[in-house]
Amino acid sequence: MSDAKNYSGGCHCGQVRYDVTADLSNVAACNCSICVKRGALWVFVSPESFALRAGADDLVDYQFNKKVIHHLFCRYCGVGSFSRGVAPGGKEMIAINVRCLDGVDVAALQPTPFDGRSL
Ligand SMILES: [Zn+2]
Repeated sequence: MSDAKNYSGGCHCGQVRYDVTADLSNVAACNCSICVKRGALWVFVSPESFALRAGADDLVDYQFNKKVIHHLFCRYCGVGSFSRGVAPGGKEMIAINVRCLDGVDVAALQPTPFDGRSL
């Protein structure tokens, strides 16, 4: 049913690397205060679909507002390639910055607007 595929991704300098299984037919473009500045496109996956391969010690955590999301970024290059959070139902989830996945043609994606600003 799902178009989930395996991807690798990470930050710009390469310190942070991960593998993820994700379905890029459902990519979100969020309008919250941080996403508009970062220009990130997101796909949400469960922790079981995500494996951090490198850089766990190089991630810096940034939080604001209700502090339910950990906006992690690499302390060397500053790129936030994924975030961790808890969904409204209490389930842990990982937000993957689709722009940080290897070999993805971002221009070919059709992002769905996500009204994060209203949360
Ligand atoms: Zn980096």
